[in-house]
Amino acid sequence: MRGQRGITHHIFSSIWSGVKGELNVIRNNSSWVIGDGKTINSWLDQWSDDKLINLLNIPEQLIIHLPNKLEYYIENQKWNIPEEIHQNFPNLRLLASKVTLPNQPTSDSLVWNHSDKGELSMKDAYTFKKHQSPKIPWAKCIWSKDIPPSKSLMVWRLMLNKLPTDENLKVRGCNLPSRCSLCLSQVETSFHLFFECPYATTLWNWLASLFNRSLYFNSIEDIWTLCERRMSPQSKVVTTAALVNLINVIWHARNQARFNDKKVHWRSSISCIIANTSLSGNLATATASSSISEFSFIKKFCVNIHPPKAPRIVEVIWHPPIHHWIKCNTDGASNSVTASSGGIFRDREANYLLGFAENVGQENAYFAQLSAAMRAIELAKMQNWMQLWLESDSSLVVKAFKNHALVPWKLRNRWRNCLRITHNMQFFATHIYREGNQCADILANLALNNDSLTVWPQMPSCISTAFARNKLGMSNFRFVNY
Ligand SMILES: [Zn+2]
Repeated sequence: MRGQRGITHHIFSSIWSGVKGELNVIRNNSSWVIGDGKTINSWLDQWSDDKLINLLNIPEQLIIHLPNKLEYYIENQKWNIPEEIHQNFPNLRLLASKVTLPNQPTSDSLVWNHSDKGELSMKDAYTFKKHQSPKIPWAKCIWSKDIPPSKSLMVWRLMLNKLPTDENLKVRGCNLPSRCSLCLSQVETSFHLFFECPYATTLWNWLASLFNRSLYFNSIEDIWTLCERRMSPQSKVVTTAALVNLINVIWHARNQARFNDKKVHWRSSISCIIANTSLSGNLATATASSSISEFSFIKKFCVNIHPPKAPRIVEVIWHPPIHHWIKCNTDGASNSVTASSGGIFRDREANYLLGFAENVGQENAYFAQLSAAMRAIELAKMQNWMQLWLESDSSLVVKAFKNHALVPWKLRNRWRNCLRITHNMQFFATHIYREGNQCADILANLALNNDSLTVWPQMPSCISTAFARNKLGMSNFRFVNY
C-alpha cells in the first residue's frame, strides 16, 4: 500500500498476488484511529461510525472542492470545524465530538475492524473469509478429551452418515445385494444396524437398564439428549463414553461378522463397553456430584467417584483510602443487547462523594469495565481530586494500565488521554473481588436501561445497604472453587 492505494508496479512477493485481490475487502473492513490526521481523508475514509460521504449523503462531485485531509479540521488536538463547513453540514460537529482525539502528537493508524487489537493477522483473515458452518449441538459431546479420538471419529462419521454401510455404498454407486451381517434378515442401513437390529437393541436395552429408564430414539441425533440432562461433569463423561463405545462395538461386531466370519457375543461387547468406559471415566478430571442415582450409574462402569473439592472461602472487605486520597470503585455490566459502566467515589471516612453510571452501547463487559475506569479518571480530574485510588473487579483492567495492548483500538485514544491525566496525579489501580464491589455493580446495572451519563451528587437510595456494609467494614465472602 502507498497511502490510500495499492501499488501498481510489479514486486517479488509470495503473498502480494493473493492479498491484491482482497484489497477492497480489507479497506472496507478497516478504520482509522486518528493521530495527527495527516494521512486520513475526512470524507472517504472511515474514522467515525461510517464514512462521512455515506453518513452525510455528500455528492461525490462536491468532495473535490472540500479540503480533504483530516488535519485541516483539527487544531491543537481539538476539533475545529470551520464555520463554512459547519453551515453546509450541521451534523458534522456532533459526529466529530463523538470521536476522541489524542491529546499528544501521534500518527494515524489503520486498524482492522474485526479484532480488538486492530491488527489483521493470518488467523483473523481466515476466520473472516471462511464460511460459517452450521453449529452442530452434538459436536461437543462427541469430541471429548477423555475419549480416544479414533472412537469419536467413528461416531462422527456415523452422525454425518459417512460410514460405508451397504446403504451408503449404494449411494456411491456400488450395487451390492444388501443384508445385515448381524441378524442376516434385514437390509443394512445405518439406522437398522445401530438401532433396530436385535444385536443393537440388546445393547441399548442393557444401557437403558443402567440408566433406569426406557430409551426411545426417532433419529440418530436423539442419543445425545442423554448427555444434555442435568448431571455432574463426571457422569457426563461416563454417559458420553458409554454411548461412543456402544456404537463402536456394534460397528466392530458387524465388521468381524462380515469380513472375518467371526461372531462377537453381545456379552463380550458389553464387557468391552464397560472396560473402555471405565478407562475414560477414571482418567477424566471431571468431578461427580453427591446424587445417589449418578453414584450407582457411575459405579456400574467400575469408575471411581471424583468428589468435588470443598470451596475455599475468601473474606472480602472493602477498605477506605488513606488521608487526602479519594477512592473510586468501578464496574461494568452487560447483557445480550447492551453494556454499561458505573462507579462510586468515596473519601477516607468512606463518605459518599459522587456516583456515576452510563450506557456504553452494544459492547462487551470488558469494554464497559474500561469505560468505567476512564470515566472515573475524567471525573476525578474535573473535580480536581489529584490523589486517586481506582479499584475494579476486573483484573484485566488493572493490567491494562501497565500493558496498553490490552485496550481495544476503539478506546485507544481515550485511554491514552486518561493515562496522561493520571501521570499528572497520584494514581494507582487495584483489583477487588466483585463481592467487595457491590456499590459500583448496582450503579452499572442501573445504566443498562438508561441512555446518557448520569452523575449523582447525592447517594442514590438503591446502593444504601451495600454502602452501609462497606462503611462499617463488614466482610463479604467469596467461595472459590478449585
Ligand atoms: Zn440386523
